[in-house]
Amino acid sequence: MSAQILSGTAVAKVVKAQVASDIEALKADGIQVGLATLLVGDDPASHIYVGYKHRDAEAVGMNSFDVQLPADATQADVFAAIDELNARDDVTGMIVQLPLPDGLDGEAAVERVLPTKDADGLHPFNLGRVILGRPGPLPATPSGVMTILDYYDIEIAGKTAVIVGRSFLVGKPMGLLLGAKGVDATVIQAHSRTPDLAAVCASADILITAIGRPGMVDASFVKPGAVVIDVGTTRTEDGLRGDVVFDEVVEVAGAITPVPGGVGPMTRASLLTNTIGLAKAQR
Ligand code: NAP
Repeated sequence: MSAQILSGTAVAKVVKAQVASDIEALKADGIQVGLATLLVGDDPASHIYVGYKHRDAEAVGMNSFDVQLPADATQADVFAAIDELNARDDVTGMIVQLPLPDGLDGEAAVERVLPTKDADGLHPFNLGRVILGRPGPLPATPSGVMTILDYYDIEIAGKTAVIVGRSFLVGKPMGLLLGAKGVDATVIQAHSRTPDLAAVCASADILITAIGRPGMVDASFVKPGAVVIDVGTTRTEDGLRGDVVFDEVVEVAGAITPVPGGVGPMTRASLLTNTIGLAKAQR
């Protein structure tokens, strides 16, 4: 039997409607909400992603500011652009579009953003708050995954969650959110050095792949009935591809996110909800 499709596009629509209504309420109180993006270089995929972020912001009535630097920008140029956005009253939140071109330090750039303007929820201060279980902006992609699981009433407590990937952007914070007190998954964090990865993955009730290797995860990685969340996105000649062999895994899993239309739209929705949270906190 085919798995239930977990549509990030559908959930993001619901989230964005809530954001639009929050923005109306903030505007009524005289508060304008603005999201800025900083894009460095010519990477075509990054330009597409940033374009989507501005389109989403405008659709919900949020002001958006598009700052771009050339590919030969220095780390000092990047810091100067961030400092300028940190200082602007009309910028409620900002994101640094990652990855930065070779030779630039993306993590240092993220750290330069004021934690109170960190729309991506990736600043070490905010990641630290996630560890402590304190409120604050949540890392956007893992938070988007949690919203999908919540929207489709997927039980997490007591389940075994296997996350493949341990980046600071996705894998590690995903483990923190799923294993948090009150969420209560038992988390296994797998990576490129994990022996017998397929068997480890096949122990998962909830399998989250954040690898960036199209088609690596086939049906042999999936326990029948498991929930499969494919975070991976790789641009190929055949279009955007996830880590999961969708056509195969959809016949084994209980529920699955597609690529495109799965986690991607939810990452962007999380940026908007984080920015609303920042606006309220700044007020
Ligand atoms: P990353 O920093 O490159 O991390 C990839 C992770 O996958 C690493 O932890 C790596 O292990 C692991 N890995 C690589 N090859 C592996 C293998 N053969 N077996 C097991 N694990 C392996 O990438 P990222 O930033 O986390 O992003 C991961 C993917 O998610 C990418 O495709 C990215 O485009 C996508 N993404 C999508 C969204 C979205 O909104 N949909 C948002 C962010 C990222 P090691 O640590 O051992 O190297």
